Amino acid sequence: MRYKRVLLKLSGEALMGDQEYGIAPDIVNQIAQEIGQIVKSGVELAVVVGGGNIFRGVSKASRGMDRASADYVGMLATVMNALTLQDALEHVEIPTRVQTAIAMQQIAEPYIRRRAMRHLEKGRVVIFGAGSGNPFFTTDTTAALRAAEIGAEVIFKATKVDGVYDSDPLLNKDAHRYEHLHFSEMLQRDLRVMDATAIALCKENQIPLLVFNLFEKGNIWRAACGEQVGTLITAG
Ligand code: UDP
Repeated sequence: MRYKRVLLKLSGEALMGDQEYGIAPDIVNQIAQEIGQIVKSGVELAVVVGGGNIFRGVSKASRGMDRASADYVGMLATVMNALTLQDALEHVEIPTRVQTAIAMQQIAEPYIRRRAMRHLEKGRVVIFGAGSGNPFFTTDTTAALRAAEIGAEVIFKATKVDGVYDSDPLLNKDAHRYEHLHFSEMLQRDLRVMDATAIALCKENQIPLLVFNLFEKGNIWRAACGEQVGTLITAG
């Protein structure tokens, strides 16, 4: 394995498969199996889950709502995803803990950095739910923050596309996929892979970001082995 400690960012949309809303159990089970493979091979894995499949603070559904309140609803949505993923991981015999940035002690541990690191050392997957606990942030920023806190070597951003392109590959058939980029180039070219706060955190803390297609079977494994998949973005 190329990496010892990895932070995997799963967007909420990744969990809904072809559905327009909610959670697709088959997809979650498939992701759990792929995660299980790398964990059984010794990778320490933390996961930050998004909530966009259920609720987003800035979405149409929240129109008219106070932004902070809408964001709290969004953060609660991520906890549903976290508990679902935990259940799927336990079904493939991967010990898993959910830690939330908003305390809800009946269903999850509170986020405690040292405790999260201890779980990782013991081979448990740690899923971080409820984002950063702060409105006006995203789970991408949470991923960058938690990766820095726990000393992850890399962030895997597993998405629906197979990397970062110079234009939208769905609209432009000549779109070019980058194999390697620097964070500064991403900001200059306005390539919207993550929000600027998340990119700034990765850049400052020199945490590489690997963007790849979650739905190509075996990609999580290949990424963990250090094979060329998707686009690698580094501080340069
Ligand atoms: N959110 C927040 N603070 C955080 C993380 C998330 O307020 O630190 C809220 C925000 O409303 C966001 C929603 O939770 O729209 C779901 O997260 P996100 O949009 O990042 O999920 P994804 O796009 O990865 O599915």
